[in-house]
Amino acid sequence: MHTFNRIDLRRLILLLTLTVALFSFFNSFHASYQTQRDLLIHHTLESNRVYAAKLRLSTEQLLDTMRQQLTYSASQLAERMDQPERLAGETERLIRQTRHFNSAFVVRHDGKVLAASPESLGMLGQMLDSAGAREALEKRRPLISAPYVSAKNNLVVFVSQPILAADGTYQGYVGGSIYLQQENILHTLLGEHFYQDGSYLYVVDRNRHLIYHQNLQRVGETVAGNPVIERVIRGEAGSQALSNSQGIEMLAGFAPVTDAGWGIVAQRATELTLQELDGLMLNILRLSLPMLLLSLGGIWWLSQLISRPLWQLAKSAQQWDTDESPEQVRHIKAWYFEADQLKRAVLSGLALLHQRLGKLSQESLTDPLTGLSNRRGMQAQLGQWQRQSQPFAVIALDIDHFKQVNDNHGHEFGDRVLQHLAQQMSDCSRASDLLCRSGGEEFLMLLPGTSPEAARQVAERLRARMGSTCCTDCPSVTVSAGVAHWPNSAASVEEVFKRADAALYRAKHAGRNRVAVG
Ligand code: GH3
Ligand code: MG
Ligand code: MG
Repeated sequence: MHTFNRIDLRRLILLLTLTVALFSFFNSFHASYQTQRDLLIHHTLESNRVYAAKLRLSTEQLLDTMRQQLTYSASQLAERMDQPERLAGETERLIRQTRHFNSAFVVRHDGKVLAASPESLGMLGQMLDSAGAREALEKRRPLISAPYVSAKNNLVVFVSQPILAADGTYQGYVGGSIYLQQENILHTLLGEHFYQDGSYLYVVDRNRHLIYHQNLQRVGETVAGNPVIERVIRGEAGSQALSNSQGIEMLAGFAPVTDAGWGIVAQRATELTLQELDGLMLNILRLSLPMLLLSLGGIWWLSQLISRPLWQLAKSAQQWDTDESPEQVRHIKAWYFEADQLKRAVLSGLALLHQRLGKLSQESLTDPLTGLSNRRGMQAQLGQWQRQSQPFAVIALDIDHFKQVNDNHGHEFGDRVLQHLAQQMSDCSRASDLLCRSGGEEFLMLLPGTSPEAARQVAERLRARMGSTCCTDCPSVTVSAGVAHWPNSAASVEEVFKRADAALYRAKHAGRNRVAVG
C-alpha cells in the first residue's frame, strides 16, 4: 500500500537523534583535537623559547669566561713579549686548562706569531694573514670574529684580547680559536642539552652562517630566507612557527647572544610534535567509544519507546471496523501526552463507530414493525445452532384470512394485528427461542431443545390466545400453525422447513385456526 512506503516515526526520530548525536560527537572530538593541538604547539614553542633563553645565558657565560681568561693572559704577557717560553707556556695553558679553545696564539703587533699551541700546528714564527688575525690587528680591541677559514684550513671563530703595555702601547694580541667543524666547546655546551625527542638547536652568526649545528656537515652553511634567523640576528628573542629553509614546518624558540652577534635557535618539527596528538586522540576516541555506543543504544531504545504508541495506533486504524480493535487500542501504552490524547480520541471514536455499526447490523437483522428477527437474523442464529448440532422445533404460523382483515378494517389495523401476534408469540416463548417474521403475515418460531409435542403445545397455546385475546372492539383474528422438528422430521434443515409449511398448509386446508404436526 502507498502509505507503507512512507518513512515511519521511529526511523525519523532515529535519523534525527543519530544525526545530532554523531554530529555533536564529531564536533566535540574535533574541538578537542584543535584544543590539544594548539596546546601542544603552544607548549613546544614555549619550551623551545625557554630552552633557547637558557642556552643564551650559558653561551654568554662561556664567552665571558673565555674573555676573562684571555684578559688575564694579556695582562700576564704585557711585559713578557720577549720571553718565548713564557708565551708558549701561556698558550699551552690556554688550550689545556679549560679546553675552551682548540688552539691559542700570541701574535705580535706586526702579525708575527710569537707562540702557538698546539705545537703541531707549526705556526710559530709565521706571519698570520687570516681574516681573524687581520681584524684583531686592525681593531686592537677584544673581538669575537665572524667564522672564517684559517691558515690551516679550519673553519674557525677567533676570540682575541689585545696586549697593551703599562703605558698603553699596543703590543699584539692573545687569542684562541674554536674549530667549528670539529669537537669544540660549543658542542660540549650545546650538545649536552640535546633533546631526545627530535628537538635540536643551532647557532648562527650575524651573517646567517651556521656556527653550530648537530649535523657538522652543515656548519659554515649560510641560511637564507629563514624568518626566525632574521629575527634573532636583529636581536629579538621569542618563539615562532615557521617553514624552515628546507620547507619543513618547525616550532622554534630563539634568543640572541648580543655580544657575539650570534643567535641560538631551538626547534622541533611540527609534524613530530603532532604525532603525539594522534595517540592522544586515539585514546580519547577509545575512552569515549563505550559512552557513544551506550548513547546510541539509548537513542534506539527511546525512539522505539516514543514511536511505539503512535505506530500501534496507526496500525490499529487498518481494522477499526473489527470487534477486537477497541480492545487492541485499549492495550496500547500511551505514556505521553499526545499519544494519550490520540488514544482517547480513537477510543471514543471507535465506541461511536461500533455503536453505529451495531445499530445498523441490529437493524438489518430485525423486522421494524414487530421487533422480531427477519429472515437474515434467523439465518444467523440457525447457522450457530447447526454448528452446535442443537436440535430445535419449528412452528410455521400464518394469519387466517388476513387479506379480508386488511380489506375490512384497513391496512393500519392489519399492522396492529401483526404486532399483536408478535407480542403473543413472545409471551408464549422462552428467551432462548427465536421468533421471526418470515414474510408479510407469516411467522416462524424456532424452539431449541424442544420436542415436537412440546412445540405443538406451544403452537396450540398461541393459537388459543390469539382466538380469545384481542381488544374489545376489534374483530377476532385466528392463526393456523404447522409444526416440524430437526432432526426428527428430516435430516436437512430446508426439508424441515418444508415439512412445517406442509403442515401449515394442511391446517389451512382442514379449516384454519388449528395446529398440524408435520
Ligand atoms: P389465508 O387464510 O389463506 O392465509 O388467507 P389470507 O387472506 O391470509 O391469504 P394470504 O396469506 O395469501 O394473504 C396475505 C395478505 O396479507 C396479503 C396482504 O394484504 C396482507 N399483508 C401482507 N403483508 C402485510 C403487512 O405488512 N401489513 C398488512 N396490514 N397486511 C399485509
Ligand atoms: Mg399468507
Ligand atoms: Mg394468511
